[in-house]
Amino acid sequence: MAMSDDRVENRLFQNRYVVDVGRPHIEIRPHEVPSRELVAMTRVCPAGCYSQNEQGQVEITADGCMECGTCRVVCAKSGDIKWNYPRGGYGVLFKFG
Ligand code: SF4
Repeated sequence: MAMSDDRVENRLFQNRYVVDVGRPHIEIRPHEVPSRELVAMTRVCPAGCYSQNEQGQVEITADGCMECGTCRVVCAKSGDIKWNYPRGGYGVLFKFG
């Protein structure tokens, strides 16, 4: 009998995402040195949307964003990001069940 693999990565893989090409719903303010909050997002975003490039700047690929709002809350005071919900018909499509 096969064992089920309930890792969160496997569950997230069940979701689908409709990309709004050229209109990301989250944008990072240009920076030379990232704030602590932005660096933290490379570890706490549950969808792994944030990463650091070779220069240490934080970048986002919003495809796959689950719209949980964590980055919106974490970066609220620093003003590092512009956050909006995706337009209707775009963004995450959750699979339930
Ligand atoms: S809203 Fe949540 S899933 Fe989307 S980029 Fe922010 S932390 Fe990641």
